[in-house]
Amino acid sequence: MKKIRKILIEKGREHFRKRKRIYPFTKVAAADRFLNNLDKYPHAFVLACLADQQMKAEKAWLIPYEIYKKLGGFSFRRLKRLTIGEINRLMTKPDKLHHYPKKMSKYIYAAIKHISEKYNGDASLIWRNRPSSAQIVLRFILFRGMGIKIATMAANILARDLKVPMRDHYSIDISPDRHVKRTFKRLGLITPQATNEELIYCARALHPEFPGLLDYPAYTIGKNWCRPGKPLCDECHMTNACPKIY
Ligand code: SF4
Repeated sequence: MKKIRKILIEKGREHFRKRKRIYPFTKVAAADRFLNNLDKYPHAFVLACLADQQMKAEKAWLIPYEIYKKLGGFSFRRLKRLTIGEINRLMTKPDKLHHYPKKMSKYIYAAIKHISEKYNGDASLIWRNRPSSAQIVLRFILFRGMGIKIATMAANILARDLKVPMRDHYSIDISPDRHVKRTFKRLGLITPQATNEELIYCARALHPEFPGLLDYPAYTIGKNWCRPGKPLCDECHMTNACPKIY
């Protein structure tokens, strides 16, 4: 267990220390540049996080960019003028942008209103001036439709990939993704029937100062080697430490 913990933390830190680069949210270069531009479009990041539910992440993260293309811009002033009906049309015509466009249109409309009222139209105030991780997670949770899972994911991406400085990382939990969970099970860190809560608390116990740091190494192992079905243990860097529970 000690060895596994050590490797996961080392791999997580290694990734965390990497220099900032364009994060490939969608694998569409122009959309990724747009989403990484937190100075100009901080609200695009927030709306993409909100959309990232009940559908494939890469497609969900494309939604703000699709709206940007349809509107010919994405200034907050322009978004603020949109009615709920207009957002619904942007989300459905000519193609549906989300599996649940009606519900998502309501969330997007409410999010724009919230950014306007709470942050005077500047969503970067959610993470500016080095707030604590708890403060950032709390600010995300206060958006309608944004659960704790998305809120901690958003904080983790901001800290880890977009290099947004924070006072601490205590409140950034691991995301209960299927690759992460499978890897934790096979590494013997959680029980075979573990709930999401068990996974989250296990990561907190392993690395209380930043549980979400373990997200990336576990996800990478699960995606590349610890696949569903037969895992590729010979190629996995955990092989000497892993009890291989499957
Ligand atoms: S050694 Fe095998 S079972 Fe263990 S984490 Fe790697 S791929 Fe999974």
